Amino acid sequence: MTDVHALMSDQAADIAADSPAAGKLARQFGALTGGEVYRESIVARHGVAFFLLRKGAEKRLALVWSAGASSTVPTDFEGDQVTGHIDEADVTAKICPTHAANAGALRRHIRWTGPSLVGLTKSVGLGDRLGLATPGHVRAVMGTDVAPIFAQQSIRELARTERTPQDVIDAATWGVFQAGWRQPSGADADHLKTIDDIEATLAAGFCMFTIDPSDHVDNAADTDDAGRLAEKFGALPWSKLESTSSDWMDAYAGKRFALPGGMVLCFDREDVLRAGVKYGSAVAHVCKLARHLALRAGDRFELEMSVDETTTPTSLLEHYFVANELKRLGVRCVSLAPRFVGEFEKGVDYRGDLHRFERQLIGHVAIARHLGPYKISIHSGSDKFSIYPIVARHAGDLVHVKTAGTSYLEALRVAATKVPGLFREVLDFARDRFDTDKATYHISADLARVAPTEAIRDEDLPSLVDQHDARQVLHVTFGSVLTWRRDDGGWLLRDRLLAMLMEHEQTYCQMLAAHLGRHVDPFVEH
Ligand code: ZN
Repeated sequence: MTDVHALMSDQAADIAADSPAAGKLARQFGALTGGEVYRESIVARHGVAFFLLRKGAEKRLALVWSAGASSTVPTDFEGDQVTGHIDEADVTAKICPTHAANAGALRRHIRWTGPSLVGLTKSVGLGDRLGLATPGHVRAVMGTDVAPIFAQQSIRELARTERTPQDVIDAATWGVFQAGWRQPSGADADHLKTIDDIEATLAAGFCMFTIDPSDHVDNAADTDDAGRLAEKFGALPWSKLESTSSDWMDAYAGKRFALPGGMVLCFDREDVLRAGVKYGSAVAHVCKLARHLALRAGDRFELEMSVDETTTPTSLLEHYFVANELKRLGVRCVSLAPRFVGEFEKGVDYRGDLHRFERQLIGHVAIARHLGPYKISIHSGSDKFSIYPIVARHAGDLVHVKTAGTSYLEALRVAATKVPGLFREVLDFARDRFDTDKATYHISADLARVAPTEAIRDEDLPSLVDQHDARQVLHVTFGSVLTWRRDDGGWLLRDRLLAMLMEHEQTYCQMLAAHLGRHVDPFVEH
């Protein structure tokens, strides 16, 4: 592919972003449209070139075609047309805002800019609370055999950032397009609790659904006395579970379940009572949501079940019991997130006994192989560098690592490095909000160990992003930082943070590629 006319006359041409031809095209398209073209984005379909460009702080989608191609030009993009010349031939460009309708049109015409099923391919979830991280996330997975989930947000994060499910899908679409990712990528509607959550995210185009039944988990079952336990067991929603208390006893009590690798699980009657009471209603709830999804989405969805936000670790017996019951009820999961032993605090490394973690993980993986196969999903998976090699060794391809907030911290690292004044404002504000905002998080930060910013020199600010306590203070206050409004109704920090990231786009991309790359590398087949 050497020039613009060859590109646009081809039926469906992709050009290598690092080729001289791409550089020349980017310059020609830039001159035509008056913007700076992201050369990785250039692609042609049926005689029309598509690319993303930037004018100041604004991004635009552009379509370019030559006179002969007008019959194949899509009509479903909104934008303004300009005419000009490239290599002395007449061409037309349509310059389109990057709004939701045009994101939808782009997904229709260029399939890989929208979400796909990822299946049992090993994968990494790369949540992006700001909507600007996907190009950096692309760089972190490019050239690896790990499948990315670029669009990923929980209902709780959506509420805290005042974003919609559509915002999340569209941000991933533009990011994928900009950075030239042309492989499948997933879209995970995370920690869904209700049918309404499913409906809202399904309508936006999500195709992976993480069901969180933790509101239906009875944590007291771990310590209830025999009488209370028997009473609760009898009162489980048996019709929804399509079973009876005696069926469950017969199926599990005194039985031996051999797993691949030689491990054998045995339930006694008390184990059945405790596992049944703790997870019975949760199984019924997951089943209800999964069947609703199957009715609404046919086979165009994949399901994760997450019990990572329960108060006690998921034992191997409990994992086996839950997965086996879901299987009996016809619910197929692509992944399951247990609550592991040890502490999975937000934004920092694993804290706990690595040998104990490893022993439990081996059991969880054996169950996943035996009853699925499905992937073991590691939630709060960012920055858990000490466990990745262990997980990679035992889970092989049956692994999903879910990160959500670490790209926000990298954004703050850009601020600390490039705009110290803005970072000081964020940290001071975060210190004020910390006691309120930490409530729903599992963290150990102590505000007293975070120095006030006036005591810190500019050049030392970036190191705060790596300091345990400051890191968690910054991590859990993202919602307040991103949605706090001044008395006059304007954003306190959000718009300045986003503008700062646009201005330092390359730096953000490099920092994300480096940091998330460290999450992906241990899982890559070398
Ligand atoms: Zn989770």
